[in-house]
Amino acid sequence: MADCIFCKVRNGEMDSHILFRDDRCFVIRDINPTAPTHLLIIPNQHIVSLAYIGPGQEPLIGHMFAVAEELARREGIALTGFRLVMNQGPDAGQSVSHLHMHLLGGNTLRDLG
Ligand code: AMP
Ligand code: ZN
Repeated sequence: MADCIFCKVRNGEMDSHILFRDDRCFVIRDINPTAPTHLLIIPNQHIVSLAYIGPGQEPLIGHMFAVAEELARREGIALTGFRLVMNQGPDAGQSVSHLHMHLLGGNTLRDLG
């Protein structure tokens, strides 16, 4: 997708530091962090959102959780706690139309309830 920010990051067309990369996804720091650790786990493939996950892509979602756990350990927050969030569509405030998972932690996060 030519005009997708996260595709541009993946292609090295943006000045962003990639913390982790494998054959399925990559991880960057959120440009506008809302917690001391705020990372984005992003699939290499341009998938718009969870609503566009196709048959056979469930393992990719599982892999994103495993990568999030690995990055949480590297950030030193695996045991203190963290939150994984995937915003889906306008009501959830999804602002980038390329599937991504937020990893948030490093302090006490606000109660969702
Ligand atoms: P969402 O609102 O769930 O779609 O989250 C998109 C996130 O991407 C927001 O938290 C933005 O701050 C973040 N973001 C947008 N552009 C960039 C960028 N170039 N590098 C890092 N994070 C970005
Ligand atoms: Zn994209």
